[in-house]
Amino acid sequence: MLTNSTIAAISTPIGRGGIAVIRISGPDAVGVAERMFRACSGRVVRELEARRAVYGEILRGGEVIDTGVLTLFRAPASYTGEDTAEISCHGGILIAQSVLCAAYEAGAEPAEPGEFTKRAYVSGKLGLSEAEAVIDIIDAESEEQLKLASAGSRGVLSREIEGISGRIREVLASVYAYIDYPDEDLRDMDESEMEASLGDILARLDRLLSTYRAGRAIRSGIPTVLAGRPNVGKSALLNRILGDDRAIVADVAGTTRDTIEERAFAGSVMLRLSDTAGIRRASDEIERLGVERSLKKLDEAELILAVFDISEPPCADDAEAAQSISAARDGAAVIAVLNKSDRVSDTAFSHREEYTALLGECDGVFEVSAEHGDGVSELLAFIEGLYTDGKINYNETALISNARQNVAVKRAREDIAAAIEAIRGGLTADVAGFDAERALAHLGEVDGRAVAEEITAEIFSRFCVGK
Ligand code: GDP
Repeated sequence: MLTNSTIAAISTPIGRGGIAVIRISGPDAVGVAERMFRACSGRVVRELEARRAVYGEILRGGEVIDTGVLTLFRAPASYTGEDTAEISCHGGILIAQSVLCAAYEAGAEPAEPGEFTKRAYVSGKLGLSEAEAVIDIIDAESEEQLKLASAGSRGVLSREIEGISGRIREVLASVYAYIDYPDEDLRDMDESEMEASLGDILARLDRLLSTYRAGRAIRSGIPTVLAGRPNVGKSALLNRILGDDRAIVADVAGTTRDTIEERAFAGSVMLRLSDTAGIRRASDEIERLGVERSLKKLDEAELILAVFDISEPPCADDAEAAQSISAARDGAAVIAVLNKSDRVSDTAFSHREEYTALLGECDGVFEVSAEHGDGVSELLAFIEGLYTDGKINYNETALISNARQNVAVKRAREDIAAAIEAIRGGLTADVAGFDAERALAHLGEVDGRAVAEEITAEIFSRFCVGK
């Protein structure tokens, strides 16, 4: 899918700024630059040295529209792997647009979203997981997301995948030697050595798969629901976790009718938090719809914060909420959050036991005051600990961070397990070889050589124009 067109786009955000960068990439990038840029030194653009910034005038229709800096990158030593010209001009909306038009008039075509990175992928400069990491760098909202994405874009995951693939190829070489020359012993490994090698590969894949829990929690976030009857303080707790007043806190029971989703961080872990309408027997149609939505959110949640008001004994609505939570939890983590601890002066009057008995099995119990903040940081630290042990160095560790990568590695793991079975079961070596080949193909999907066009298109569509 190599392309002949030369594309251009503004690579800096649209708006007022110090500078704007117009990027031009493709076989005629130097030609386009030459038609719109005149170096002050008088040197001809096509004779300029690569990767050296040159000051000059930017031309449109024969007229000087701005002054700026041109840097040429010659294929393959550029981001896209093609000839590339980058022109920095003054950072105004109109001037950047005008320089871009000058590039079009000089022969470039408008770039599509993510097209520069897509070209880098097509020309083999980037693997697919590295391209995904580039978007994640741009979208990062937390330090850890950034570290994880940066490691991915530097190829930490790609190298681990390549390392495992190399080990699989070693086993395959022995399998083929055996199949092709059964009577001569040309193999580096006999059956038991193959089995041991495949066992090591399996362990390595398992280790990699185990990183997805943390990788996902950091990158994509955990769907989290604050559940409980109205007025226990769910909105107040949501606001406390978010650190500002985004949900309306009201004294009238049943007022938070809609669900809202917000992102918050429990340390490195991102929570995709929904405050729900409150679960109880609804008294009118609108509230019934709200409750229905809450129950749906509850079903989708992977972390449920079951909020109760510890200053009062459980009522029928609390029992109803606890029951809905038990019915919906289905593998989700559940934490009992006993709110309004500030109202309980004497622990003898605390209803802690009644609430925990009502909720049944849960992963943790915390007494907090959403109003004053007591206990909330302990709650958040506990939540972070559910997903990551805090020991991972995200900057350097190969981590699986999205569902696409996870599925590919999981399939490779199944293939290797099947290959081991084939060898153990005394099946012929070619069965094991077939499984190992499949594992290689599945691992190959992580970096995208065998990935369907729709999938790569979907990935690059997440980019902005100019990247
Ligand atoms: P929701 O219906 O569960 O979302 O409950 P809200 O967050 O709207 O809170 C209901 C009422 O309880 C409001 O008047 C809050 O000010 C109050 N409230 C919430 N959390 C606390 C708390 O920790 N301590 C005290 N004393 N009051 C709280």
